[in-house]
Amino acid sequence: MNDAAQERLTLEHNLRQALMNDEFCLHFQPILDVKTGRVHSVEALIRWQHPEQGMIPPGKFIPIAEETGLIQPIGEWVFWAACRQLSDFYVAGIRDVKMGINISAMQMRNDNLPVLAKGAIDALGLDAKDLIFEITESVAMNQPDDTVRILDCLHDMGIALAIDDFGTGYSSLSYLKMFPIDHLKLDRAFVSEIGEGPDSATICDATISLGHSLGLRLVAEGVETEEQFEYLRGKGCDLVQGFLFSRPVPAEQVMAFIQQRHQQECE
Ligand code: C2E
Ligand code: MG
Ligand code: MG
Repeated sequence: MNDAAQERLTLEHNLRQALMNDEFCLHFQPILDVKTGRVHSVEALIRWQHPEQGMIPPGKFIPIAEETGLIQPIGEWVFWAACRQLSDFYVAGIRDVKMGINISAMQMRNDNLPVLAKGAIDALGLDAKDLIFEITESVAMNQPDDTVRILDCLHDMGIALAIDDFGTGYSSLSYLKMFPIDHLKLDRAFVSEIGEGPDSATICDATISLGHSLGLRLVAEGVETEEQFEYLRGKGCDLVQGFLFSRPVPAEQVMAFIQQRHQQECE
C-alpha cells in the first residue's frame, strides 16, 4: 500500500515538473477516408519525454493525471499544441485535414471547455469545423445533462464530436440520440477480432449498421492488416486508423505523409 501510494506521489510530482519543463509533446496519427484514400484527419496523441526514462506512453500517466486533477492543465496544453499544429497545416497549404483531440472526463465537466476552444480558434484564426473532440462513452454517460449542455455548445460552434472506444463502456444507446455526435470510433478490440472465426466480427458489423442508421460516420480504430481493412471497406466503414497506414508520428512526419498521400492522388 505504502509503496503504491509513494509511487503515485512521485508520479504526480514528476507530472507537475513535466508541465513546467515542457517535457510533453504530441504525435499525430492519420485517419483515412476509405472511399477516397485521402487523409481526413489526424488524432493528436500525447507523449511524455521523460529526461531519464525516455518516452512514456499516455496509458501510464493519463489515469494519474485524471485522478489528481492535473489533466486540466495537461489537457489545456494538449489543446493549444494541437491547435497550433492545425494552424501550421494551414500555413503548409494543408487545408482539408481536421485535428482530433482527446478530451477527458474532467475537462468535459468543466464549463471552461467552450471558452478555451473559442479562445484558441479566435487567436489562431482556425475554422472550428476543422476540430474534432473525442470523448469516451463513460465520459458522456457520467453526467448526461451537463454533458449534453456542453456538447451542444461545442456543436453550435461548429466543432465535430466523436465517441471514442465505442463498444467498450457500459452505456445506454439512447444517449447516442441525445448527444450531437458526428462520429463513432469502433474500439480496436473489435477490429482485431476480424478474421478470427465465423462470428468474430458481429459486433463490428452491428456497430457499423447502428452508426449508419443514426446518421453517424464510422471510424475503425487499430486497423493492422489488409484483411481487416478489406472487411471494413466491404461493410461500408467510412474512416480507418491504424498501424497498417501509419503509427502515431511527430508533426513533420505526419505532414510528409499527408502531402505524399494527396500528391499520389493527383498523379
Ligand atoms: P485512443 O484515443 O483510443 O487513441 C488510440 C490509441 O490506439 C493510441 O494509443 C494509438 O497509438 C493506438 N493505436 C492506433 N492504431 C493502432 C493499431 O493499429 N494497433 C495498436 N495496437 N494500437 C493502435 P496511445 O497513443 O498509447 O494512447 C492511448 C490512449 O491514451 C488514447 O486512446 C487516449 O484515450 C489517451 N490519450 C492519448 N493522448 C491523450 C490526450 O492528449 N488527452 C487525453 N485525455 N487522453 C489521451
Ligand atoms: Mg482517441
Ligand atoms: Mg480509441
